[in-house]
Amino acid sequence: MHKGKKLYEGKTKILYEGPEQGTAIQHFKDDATAFNNLKKASVEGKGVLNNRISEHILKNLNQIGIKTHLIKRLNMREQLVRLAEIIPVKFIVRNIATGSLTKKLGIPDGTILSKPLIEYSYKNDDLGDPLVAREHILEFQWIKKESELDFINNCCLRINDFMQGMFRGVGIKLVDFKLEFGRANIDGKNTIILADEISPDTCRLWDVASEKKLDKDRFRKDLGNIIQAYQEVARRLGIIHEESNISTVKFGKPQAVTIKKIK
Ligand code: C5P
Repeated sequence: MHKGKKLYEGKTKILYEGPEQGTAIQHFKDDATAFNNLKKASVEGKGVLNNRISEHILKNLNQIGIKTHLIKRLNMREQLVRLAEIIPVKFIVRNIATGSLTKKLGIPDGTILSKPLIEYSYKNDDLGDPLVAREHILEFQWIKKESELDFINNCCLRINDFMQGMFRGVGIKLVDFKLEFGRANIDGKNTIILADEISPDTCRLWDVASEKKLDKDRFRKDLGNIIQAYQEVARRLGIIHEESNISTVKFGKPQAVTIKKIK
């Protein structure tokens, strides 16, 4: 498929112009970053796995009526997506307290929350994506209408319900995750759609039995076996199979991937 000019390069993905107006090609890189880019490495095969896992989840969300940017997966590393104007707010949904929540508020790690907690952070690398209130979002018009913010909140909760069930069915706890939304013109209508990706890079996933981390915390905390953890998620979701050449490495076996330091 014809790839146009590069529109944007982020930490883990590149966006190219798509073949038709209003479309883009989203390319998944192998780069891993954490702590606002302070820690960087290349994890061979991560982009391929995230492409597949995100495709699987977004396709399923489409089927329950959540509009997403995904049109179709093109190849191992690329997806054809609708071009969306990204809302500069990250929506974080939490079911279990960990990560920045425990650090900021001193809540014991692993505390089960009585109901899902939605947090907002302003998408701004220079400011370190600060936590903001609903009132900031409306005051600074990152989202103009309260009804749109309510709509996105409801989407977050529906996505959480769906993904919790999906992961629980394969022995994984959905601890928390991050979502991004954008605006796209669909059939002449300005529509809010789910954008970006949902993958072990953007979720915390713990094995139900062992609480083993199957997500990017393996990179953040130097736990090793990053690719094996992502493969485990893909295998349990039925995306890849034992024989598949992107799932040949099992947990616990020596690292068969190279993690190259970028800096
Ligand atoms: O670091 P923190 O605890 O706030 O992260 C909450 C969730 O949001 C985690 O699943 C993390 O992977 C995700 N996240 C993300 N991108 C960011 C910040 C957090 O995907 N820039």
